[in-house]
Amino acid sequence: MDDPLCYLAIFFMSYFNTGKKENRKLIFDKYNGHCAYCGAVLEFKNLQIDHKEPLRRTSRGVERDYSFENCMPSCGQCNSSKSSFELEQWRKELDLKVHRLNDYHSIYRICKSFGLVFETGIEVKFYFERYGS
Ligand SMILES: [Zn+2]
Repeated sequence: MDDPLCYLAIFFMSYFNTGKKENRKLIFDKYNGHCAYCGAVLEFKNLQIDHKEPLRRTSRGVERDYSFENCMPSCGQCNSSKSSFELEQWRKELDLKVHRLNDYHSIYRICKSFGLVFETGIEVKFYFERYGS
């Protein structure tokens, strides 16, 4: 496996070209036209493709999993928010946002006091984790 040609072969075997329209359609259909993370209904023209496992920096350089399994249909909001977070890091980050709203935003706190918004206390569960169950 130390042969560089082996790495090259593995890279191309898992490569899924997201630039092709038919491949983008396969990703769009993966969760029936919904964002894999928040579950919002997507329009094909606005589809963004997120890599569930983001690029990794290793001693050999930058690695990215280009497989179909790693390509997730995403809305712009989720793709931007997730950015280069690992999935579990992002889940924690989303949970922290509620704490930050309470700690730093008086508008949020007053709205909460008057029952205009309320917190559910539920754990962040991504749409693809609930999909099909
Ligand atoms: Zn989303």
